[in-house]
Amino acid sequence: MNRALKIGILEGDDIGLEVVPEAIKVMRAAAAKTRLSIEWFPMPIGRKAFDQLGYTLPPGTLEKLDTLDGWVLGPIGHQAYPKDQPNAINPHPILRKHFDLFANIRPAKSYPGLPALYHDVDLIIVRENNEGFPPDRNTYMGNGEFRPTPDMTISIRLVTRQGSSKVARAAFELARTRPRRKVTAVHKNTVFKLGCGMFAEECRRVAQDYPDITLDEVMVDTFGMRLVMKPQQFDVVVTTNTFGDILSDVAAGLVGGLGLAPALSAGPARAMAQATHGSAPDIAGKSIANPYAMIMSGQMLLAWLGHKHDEPKAVKAAEVVERAMQNVINAGKTLTPDLGGKASTVEMGDAVAAQVQA
Ligand code: ATP
Repeated sequence: MNRALKIGILEGDDIGLEVVPEAIKVMRAAAAKTRLSIEWFPMPIGRKAFDQLGYTLPPGTLEKLDTLDGWVLGPIGHQAYPKDQPNAINPHPILRKHFDLFANIRPAKSYPGLPALYHDVDLIIVRENNEGFPPDRNTYMGNGEFRPTPDMTISIRLVTRQGSSKVARAAFELARTRPRRKVTAVHKNTVFKLGCGMFAEECRRVAQDYPDITLDEVMVDTFGMRLVMKPQQFDVVVTTNTFGDILSDVAAGLVGGLGLAPALSAGPARAMAQATHGSAPDIAGKSIANPYAMIMSGQMLLAWLGHKHDEPKAVKAAEVVERAMQNVINAGKTLTPDLGGKASTVEMGDAVAAQVQA
């Protein structure tokens, strides 16, 4: 690649204002270390943008993002946005839809030495991101949940061949980069014969293009039990939207909580780094938010961009961040309170950046 990568910085709300700067600090350090050129584009979004500009998603944002390779998005605290204000919308689903960010990739990795239920887990849940049950995502216009009478609610779940096939392919590609070379498709085609049935058919169809990868299928309820009892048996897991949403939080709980749950939403041309956790207003402004999830979401973005644009320096930068984080965790001296330490958000970010530079 003979140009700089273009990466946007959208801080989001609440603890986003604290953890996103740490992620950018570490990514900048990794870029400097590997001589990777990155042009950064800070852009207003969320409550701060609404207070300053009158919009949570200011006009021109999508057009600007269209010119970038990817971006880091902090958590969005839309529940606290002013009600009945047409410009105070939740920007998140709009970004995912507009850029067709169809794969939400959520790793759950445990570290010996950190408080967790298991110390030997390394799995990734690949969740379909733009279909399924969430009512703000599964229709072209209007809402996928409605109430025909005061005592009846109907929730629509959307499953398409194309959406299922795309997310399955993303999972198989990911499995190829990992030693176990295994994909587990999670569904319940015994009950949801058409919806889950279509998802399963597409997973099997895509599997034919990957003879080097084993495909395993597990019913979602059984998977929930097996995930809690023996999470080590899973590697790459692919599933539909709501199953993936729930199961990835369970997986985060097995390895130490939401502070340790990074994520990347990837599409055909761009990717968005955004941690699994929400904006955590209860701990905002206290300098105790764990920056791990946001930093490692940035790390995933670097790796994704490196593979997408055939840019070995970005792949290297991602490896450098991963190693630096591992070193900080192994040393155990600069960890935030949720990990049993006493460090502030900035102190932990500084420690990771210092390890990147070392
Ligand atoms: P959303 O609905 O937007 O996903 P949520 O209501 O599920 O959000 P979060 O904002 O994710 O909740 O936070 C849940 C709890 O997890 C918070 O109360 C907070 O204590 C903890 N938490 C979340 N993120 C972090 C973090 N980065 N560091 C430490 N604790 C965190």
